[in-house]
Amino acid sequence: QPVVAVVGRPNVGKSTLVNRIIGRRQAVVEDVPGVTRDRVPYDAQWNGRSFTVVDTGGWEPDAKDRAAAIAAQAETAVVTADVVLFVVDSMVGSTDVDEAAVKMLRRSAKPVILVANKADNTAIEMEATSLWSLGLGEPFPVSALHGRGSGDLLDAILAALPEAPAIVENRPRGPRRVALVGRPNVGKSSLLNRFSGEERAVVDSVAGTTVDPVDSLVDIGGQTWQLVDTAGLRKRVGKASGTEYYASLRTAGAIEAAEVAVVLLDASEPISEQDQRILTMVTEAGRALVIAFNKWDLVDADRRYYLDKEIDRELRRIPWAIRLNLSAMTGRAVDKLAPALNKALASWETRVPTAHLNQWLTALVQATPHPVRGGRAPRILFATQAGVAPPRFVLFTTGPLDAGYQRFVERKLREEFGYEGSPIEISVRPRK
Ligand code: GDP
Repeated sequence: QPVVAVVGRPNVGKSTLVNRIIGRRQAVVEDVPGVTRDRVPYDAQWNGRSFTVVDTGGWEPDAKDRAAAIAAQAETAVVTADVVLFVVDSMVGSTDVDEAAVKMLRRSAKPVILVANKADNTAIEMEATSLWSLGLGEPFPVSALHGRGSGDLLDAILAALPEAPAIVENRPRGPRRVALVGRPNVGKSSLLNRFSGEERAVVDSVAGTTVDPVDSLVDIGGQTWQLVDTAGLRKRVGKASGTEYYASLRTAGAIEAAEVAVVLLDASEPISEQDQRILTMVTEAGRALVIAFNKWDLVDADRRYYLDKEIDRELRRIPWAIRLNLSAMTGRAVDKLAPALNKALASWETRVPTAHLNQWLTALVQATPHPVRGGRAPRILFATQAGVAPPRFVLFTTGPLDAGYQRFVERKLREEFGYEGSPIEISVRPRK
């Protein structure tokens, strides 16, 4: 989600403008010169486009003077934003402080929209044209308080935002694509045969989606799924054309083409290196993951407890994967597969509202701040979810985070929001 930062001197009306943009009367804290207010993000929508507005009311308390303060604030905003709204007071016109900030803004390649606030009437609107002198292009006269000019401003913001990514959540829903992978003899064909009674012939197109001829549509749990590379499962390529290398390429291709992967493991044998490699392919491709331990019928009742411990240890890097113990032969727990796939896909496509994400994050970093290293501790300023499938997050910080602390944030994020069955990605954008 793109980020729009609101920058300007205290009292130019940034909070009021943010309220106007997010379209609700909310007690955004007032500008008070000299008082630190942390950068708070809000979700906003206009003409079907969503973006995050960051109110950079924060005032660096240790800054020597106003010009330094505005420069520092502008700098932070510029680094983290896609578009900057630079707000000036039409009644006051441009000041030295404004000019200092403009220098900073111009050095960046970010689009800057000049907002001439407090243009409550036509006369002041005319005055605002003098702000061309700031060299930021056409000033947008706005009365944040009364709403005057705010529609034009919002249109300008949308025009300046980066291209909207394809909206994954709203794409027309064909059958979900699932890969069934695992080393030879774990029981892939046997499991597929469990569903084959319902299997339909390969078709060319289903509701506007093109089905690759090596795929087929199978019924799993009363729902139609597109099983990628079914041909590979049937033809026993392992025996015919041989090499492990070829089989591994085929597996990688199936995972890449799928949205969710079922990795089949043999519960009667230890987890092998090859099993681990397949699991890594899935996590690195960022696909949703269900791990199915097949041949559970061969597992001795009193071995199960130890087996569970062993499995926990082997799979400790992916504790979030959904695990099933099933038997393709007896049919045990095969009915659990469809619910597991659906759960994993739901996690994979979860989007957390920015406000909720940041409320949670603020509480987290307050309770457990980043450890101090060499007299300093980086702060997390705010977070946004940059995408789904899998969920991707960006943390905006004052500096690089310790790997351990980043893992802690990821663990807590999972505790709070779930993501069972899905990998998540967290990247850190330290302010320069
Ligand atoms: P693939 O190479 O992964 O497709 O594995 P297959 O489906 O060909 O199965 C390999 C062997 O394991 C065959 O002899 C199957 O009968 C056997 N097998 C598959 N699933 C099970 C199961 O759940 N329990 C037991 N006991 N044997 C199974």
